[in-house]
Amino acid sequence: MKHRHEYLYLGGTWVRPAGERRITPINPSTGQPLASVPEAVEEDVDRAVGAAREAFDAPGGWASWEPARRAEVMERFAAELDARADAICTAVSSQNGMPVTVARQLEVGYPTAVLRYYADLARTAEFTETRAGVLGGTVEVRRLPVGVVAAIVPWNYPQVLSMFKVAPAMAAGCTIVLKPSPEAVLDAFVVAEAAQAAGVPAGVLNIIPGGREAGVHLVAHPGVDKVAFTGSTPAGRAIGEVCGRLLRPVTLELGGKSAGIVLDDAVLDPATIGEELVRATFTNNGQTCFLSTRILAPRSRYAQVVELVTALAESLPVGDALDERTLIGPLVSAQQRERVEGYIAKGRAEGARVTTGGGRPAGLDQGWFVRPTVFADVDSRSTVAQEEIFGPVLCVLAYDDTDDAVRIANDSGFGLGGTVWTADPERGAAVARRVQTGTIGVNRYLPDPGAPFGGFKASGLGRELGPEGMQAYLQTQSLYR
Ligand code: NAD
Repeated sequence: MKHRHEYLYLGGTWVRPAGERRITPINPSTGQPLASVPEAVEEDVDRAVGAAREAFDAPGGWASWEPARRAEVMERFAAELDARADAICTAVSSQNGMPVTVARQLEVGYPTAVLRYYADLARTAEFTETRAGVLGGTVEVRRLPVGVVAAIVPWNYPQVLSMFKVAPAMAAGCTIVLKPSPEAVLDAFVVAEAAQAAGVPAGVLNIIPGGREAGVHLVAHPGVDKVAFTGSTPAGRAIGEVCGRLLRPVTLELGGKSAGIVLDDAVLDPATIGEELVRATFTNNGQTCFLSTRILAPRSRYAQVVELVTALAESLPVGDALDERTLIGPLVSAQQRERVEGYIAKGRAEGARVTTGGGRPAGLDQGWFVRPTVFADVDSRSTVAQEEIFGPVLCVLAYDDTDDAVRIANDSGFGLGGTVWTADPERGAAVARRVQTGTIGVNRYLPDPGAPFGGFKASGLGRELGPEGMQAYLQTQSLYR
């Protein structure tokens, strides 16, 4: 086989890139360059969209296949991805700093579970439904694939966020042009290999490694029918504006600043809630959109909550993402670390108190590390409580009673995730239902592939996962008879 890092995967085959530019992701644990790959230029984006268009429009092609036949291909694709799990894990962790133990759970097992879930859904979903007409006659309601999908993903969960789009799009009968982010692009080449090995028909999945420029060209491309984006809120707004002008359907999964409400009955013991609390607040070094980064503590137990969160933050081993012992790896880039350090300085300047962390760890001079940091005495209107930091930084805020906790939780421009921590799950669920957010957990948090995931307010538009996630890739036709 041709060396995959010299070619692009377009139209079901490896083709020579149109330009000379290369992308060289840097290992954030060491600051050292990793392998280099071609960067897709506009001409490559055009070729990718052309291949996806051709595959979608071909009579008797993918879009017109029986859904069960598409499901078989998706299952083979999942098996080929599973067979490459180690290569994917290593690629992800060495590019974005995700601890390899986290990558093993969230960047390999989870994406193939999503792919298999949508393969099952393709088999069971009703793509044609006949209804009695209200005014007589019958109506055939057909759910048709929307067409060529532009899928754009960030670097923090390159595999899972790609599969949130690729899997429902494939199940629906769409064809896809996937643009990974330049910081985490090597794993996408492994995905291309898996797609080819699985016999995914030519043009159904095309991959264009590139930056913002390629993304801008793709979003507005006349051959694209729908855009699915995960990334920052500013980029999401820009993409939403373009799609609005073009009347192009778009789903946007954007930033977050979720609340973790600790109720007054919670058992504040690391052995009871430590593991789940760490998972819900620090996963992937704080570089996760749905984390509960604002911890809301009852004033009566404020000191205890601060003590627990501080102790948990201090207990997390910081180190190279590929080291099995690491629970907090580096930030993705020097620029991202500067951003996070800027927020830490801002928090201090605004009067919040650092109880642990607040700087770089000793002895890790090569990569872009920041110590897990906890701010106490944080005001809900302050910058660190309102803006997404995207690093291992938590704020602990005090509340008076449950109404006050709900008010503070909702005092945010975002609404993506959240958690409630309590000894009484029923009470926790009642509080959770009052939070303005797309998803929320009681004593744990993990998006479920079978249930819609997405944001209220500035956290996004539309939903991924669940049957709702497939709706975004379908459009209906009513046939009156
Ligand atoms: P980003 O918005 O800078 O980039 C995301 C992707 O979009 C990249 O592939 C980038 O090349 C591309 N891009 C950027 N601007 C574009 C434009 N104008 N047109 C087309 N493409 C464009 O985000 P990032 O820094 O890579 O990722 C971090 C952000 O992603 C955080 O805000 C995080 O909360 C968010 N995120 C959200 C979710 C979710 O499901 N809601 C999940 C993970 C990450």
